[in-house]
Amino acid sequence: MRLTQISLLAAMLLSGLTHATYAQQRTDRRPNILFIISDDHAYQAISAYGSKLMQTPNIDRIAHEGALFNNVFVTNSLCAPARATLLTGKYSHVNGLEINYGQNFNVQQELFTRILKDHGYQTSWIGKWHLHTLPDGFDSYKILVDQGHYYNPDFISTGADTTRITGYVTNIITDLTEDFLNHRDTTKPFCLIVGEKAPHREWLPDLQDLGALDSIHFPIPSTFYDDYQGRPAAAAQDMTVAKTMILREDLKVHLDYHGYAEYTRFTPDQQKAFAAYYDKVSKDLDSQALTGDALVKWKYQRYLKDYLSTTISLDRNIGKILAYLDSTGLSKNTIVVYCSDQGFYMGEHGWFDKRWMYEPSLRTPFMMRYPGVVQPGAKVDPMVVNIDFAPTLLSAAGITPPEDMQGKNFLPLVEKNGNAQKSGSAKGWRKAMYYHYYEFPQPHHVSPHFGVRTERYKLIRFYGPKDYWELYDLKKDPDEMHNVYGQSDYSSITKDLRKQLDELIAQYKDTEAANILETK
Ligand code: CA
Repeated sequence: MRLTQISLLAAMLLSGLTHATYAQQRTDRRPNILFIISDDHAYQAISAYGSKLMQTPNIDRIAHEGALFNNVFVTNSLCAPARATLLTGKYSHVNGLEINYGQNFNVQQELFTRILKDHGYQTSWIGKWHLHTLPDGFDSYKILVDQGHYYNPDFISTGADTTRITGYVTNIITDLTEDFLNHRDTTKPFCLIVGEKAPHREWLPDLQDLGALDSIHFPIPSTFYDDYQGRPAAAAQDMTVAKTMILREDLKVHLDYHGYAEYTRFTPDQQKAFAAYYDKVSKDLDSQALTGDALVKWKYQRYLKDYLSTTISLDRNIGKILAYLDSTGLSKNTIVVYCSDQGFYMGEHGWFDKRWMYEPSLRTPFMMRYPGVVQPGAKVDPMVVNIDFAPTLLSAAGITPPEDMQGKNFLPLVEKNGNAQKSGSAKGWRKAMYYHYYEFPQPHHVSPHFGVRTERYKLIRFYGPKDYWELYDLKKDPDEMHNVYGQSDYSSITKDLRKQLDELIAQYKDTEAANILETK
């Protein structure tokens, strides 16, 4: 063998060895990412947040073994815009998706998932995507068509026709998740986003959970009978349990199994089981002949029973995914996040739905387990915004986030041995967050608005058709019932908040908001 042949052989052996070692190192060092984002899951309905309504032991497990974030806020409290912000780390006016319908999300723009893929991660999105344009820059996807259906949903997969899968959506998403993990490329770390449909309207529980909460009488929130005094935008909305919530479609009273898309999909067995339960519900209502406030109260109880019953399945399935990670040894090197796309009203102000900059919809549940990095049981108080998710996950993967991402890596707030999460005022971390909501008039007549929230105060500017300011002192008025804008004892605070608002608008380059403040 000539010397050149020996060198060549040595080089081949060496490169093979290097490649294998590198692959091994990548798997060992860089964490996998499993990001579970549900839809409309209120923190008021999660026991890790002290829920009075519901126990969610499996979701809580992520918080107990990781960190529970107490102040995570969204930039625009709506389904599709929240997903666009998750992917881009940018505000709606920058990533181009401000409303649920009527705008196409540009998937060719910079997405953190594409960056991870370019750096050797295997990436996938399973479940609710809701961005209308198909995913791009993922190794694979299996997404629900549009909002998706609770029963026998249709999925669009990479390079395949749309297929209908028989069963209940949350169970199916878990099966698809396990299927992805079973067949993944084990030489690479993975980033899997699991988009849960539940507990989105119209809250169809799994058959096995029908009636599970029937014996519970849920407490009515103290603000349920809000008269919206001093808040003209709140008075003009169309999202109350009393008036907006529909008996037939939302609460399944006197169901028309042929006239409503969700039910025409049922198999005969599913329809039979569903009818057996909801016919009893309908008879209960008929027998009482309720009107006025008694009917509203009945609707509220039924709303919570249906909504929370869908979360029984959600919690059970998250337990199943966590057990899978345990049984495969993946728990050790996998970041697990559980969050919702935004908060939701469980009857506060008389409402369901989201949209407002008020606390129940501005705040979203968020918890993160990251073995070896996040201190188990940590409670994180500094303000995190959903623009931070993308840069944080990139940082966890050892990638410097692109400069034009508008969020920040929050890992320094939660790292073991760090004390930032206890102090509530991490050095150099944001003390105020910016919000901007757009969708009007349909479907719920919530006037567009933007504003700033600090630790104690919230200043909101509504514009078109309601055009005025609101100010809340969250310490004195955590339920946001008293608009104190214009009161003399808040004049210097208002001035300071206005300055912070102007600075945030400039920082995030929201020219529309800047123009409104200049011209109106
Ligand atoms: Ca949502």
